[in-house]
Parts: sequence; structure tokens; C-alpha cells
Amino acid sequence: MLDVFTRIQRPVCKNKRVKIVNNIIETSNLKKYFPVRKGLFSKVASYVKAVDGLNISIRKTETYGLIGESGCGKSTAGRTILHLLKPTEGKVLYENKDLSELSHRKLNDLRAEIQMVFQDPFASLNPRMKISEIVGEPLLVHKRVRRIRQSMPKVYELLETCGLTSHYADRYPHELSGGQRQRVVIARALALDPKFIVCDEPVSALDVSIQAQILKLLKNLREKLGLTYLFITHDLSVAKHISDRIGIMYLGKIVESAESTALFRKPLHPYTEALLSAVPNADPDRKKKRIILAGDPPSPMNPPEGCHFHTRCSKVLPVCSTLAPVLRDVGNGRFVACHLHHN
Ligand code: SF4
Repeated sequence: MLDVFTRIQRPVCKNKRVKIVNNIIETSNLKKYFPVRKGLFSKVASYVKAVDGLNISIRKTETYGLIGESGCGKSTAGRTILHLLKPTEGKVLYENKDLSELSHRKLNDLRAEIQMVFQDPFASLNPRMKISEIVGEPLLVHKRVRRIRQSMPKVYELLETCGLTSHYADRYPHELSGGQRQRVVIARALALDPKFIVCDEPVSALDVSIQAQILKLLKNLREKLGLTYLFITHDLSVAKHISDRIGIMYLGKIVESAESTALFRKPLHPYTEALLSAVPNADPDRKKKRIILAGDPPSPMNPPEGCHFHTRCSKVLPVCSTLAPVLRDVGNGRFVACHLHHN
């Protein structure tokens, strides 16, 4: 069964001789299944297939947007890529190093280079710690300093880099606004000079005006520090603003990936089309008809046979309910998993 999924989900490249060597992250058939236990002896009755054969490559210094509705597995994918969750199957290569083959110590050392920024800045900050302790803590944990006091010059520098003055160092999280707290979270993520950051819905808990400021900060930091982001969001407007390339996820699988501008200009997969049709368009000449998706996404515990999207697709073909489409290269760096685009 797993081999079948493996074959189905590997992207098929038109030009097999093309090999991108400048990737910081490559996942290969990455899966994360959660067992569902039932009965007196808690036997495994089934699995929630949160991530089901993910193949993505993220190039150095780019922002890769991972998009999908809530529950599609995008946050689990982010955590599994960082090995905060152990993959059920598949590989994650970070700068060509297989993370699952690293010892606990080496993986821990590597965590300095790969960081995560979460959605809710308040929940991810310890309310009893001062901002200086929060931002300086990673330096202490990774033994870059022996006492938090020694981290202060770096803490001030990080706060300033993230648009906060040194006066914030002595404050507590509850004394800060949502936007300021997210700046603190970003400052802490930068403490160990990371190369790769997974941003999991980093602006969805903020007001729209503050969202724009935080997105601008993340963009500036990427350029200044040469960072690479995996940017996870359900918000297509946010993804369009910040992403170089985008992967659209549905029930644990990528159904379309492309350069951001190409994807927004002409979505190929019916699911991407439906998502994009819901994004408000300021240009009156380019008003498009809203495609309403029927019903909720099916359960990842029992996804539909064939194309997982066939129960909601407005362009469904007879073949779609029996044969799962492969994620194929359709030219110009675009990949799509849909029978409509496979000759
Ligand atoms: Fe729709 Fe069929 Fe394409 Fe799936 S494979 S998106 S059901 S047309």
C-alpha cells in the first residue's frame, strides 16, 4: 500500500537531467501518520494521514509558501520537516544531510540553524520571563554564553534589528502589543544566526495593518541576512505578498506548485482556481467568478479513492474517482496533480 502511494506521489519531471543543486531543504515522500486507537486495549484502528508523501525542494534564500485550508496538514508538514515530529516515512535533507540519520546531539546542534516562528506570539512567550531573557535564552541553551547577562549586547542588537528599542528588554510579554510580541518571537528565532526558518501562520493572529509591517520585516530580514523561509499560511493574499514559489496542499499532498506570479496569473488545478477565486481583487477589469467549494474537506483518516479532491471538484472526470493523479511537471517550473493536465 505504501509503495503505491510512493509511486503516485513522486513528481514526474519532463527533463530528468535537470537537477537543482542549490536547495537548502528537500523532502522525499515525507509522511506523517497519527494512529487512531480504539477499544479496551487501545488497538490502532486507523491512521490520520496528515502528511501523505510530500516532495518539496526549497532553494536557498527563497520564500516557499505552503498553502491550504485548515486541517490540510501544512503545520504538521512544517514540524515534520524540522523533525519536531518524527516522520512516519520518507526523508528530509537539510543541505544534503539526511536529518533522520543524524545523532540526537548533531540534530540538536543543527537546530541553531533551523528555527520556527509560530502563529500565536502570546502562547509562544513565557509570561514570567522578561523580553531580554526570552530573546537571550537560545544563546544560553546552546552554550553561546554562560550567563544571560552576557547575552545582553546581542539581545539589544536583535531587538533593534526587529524594530524594537532596547527599552523593551526589561518588559514582560503582557506589556507588549500583538505586533511587538511577534517581533520578539522573530528576534528570538534569529538569536542563533539561523539559515532556515519555518514561519507557521506568523501573521494570522494580527490586525491587517500590523500584518503588513511584520511581512515587511520578514522580507527585509531575508534580504539582509540571506534567510530562507518556509511560509505556512491559509491566506492567499499574504502568500502572494511574500512567496517566491508556492505549493498548494490538499489532504496531506501537494496538488500544485509553481512560481508565485505564474500561479496567481493562471492557476491550473481546480482546487487552486477555487481558492484564488475567493481572494478579493482590487482591479475591476479582472473580476472573476467565485467558485464555491462544495462541503468541507473529507477526513484525512479516510480520504476519497482516486483524486482526493474529486468529491468537491467542479471539473471532475469519470477517471477521477478511481485513479489518483500524479504530481507532474507541466513545463515552466510548474507541477500539477490533475488528470485535466495530463496527456
Ligand atoms: Fe478534479 Fe479530476 Fe483534476 Fe481531481 S483529477 S482536480 S477531480 S479534474
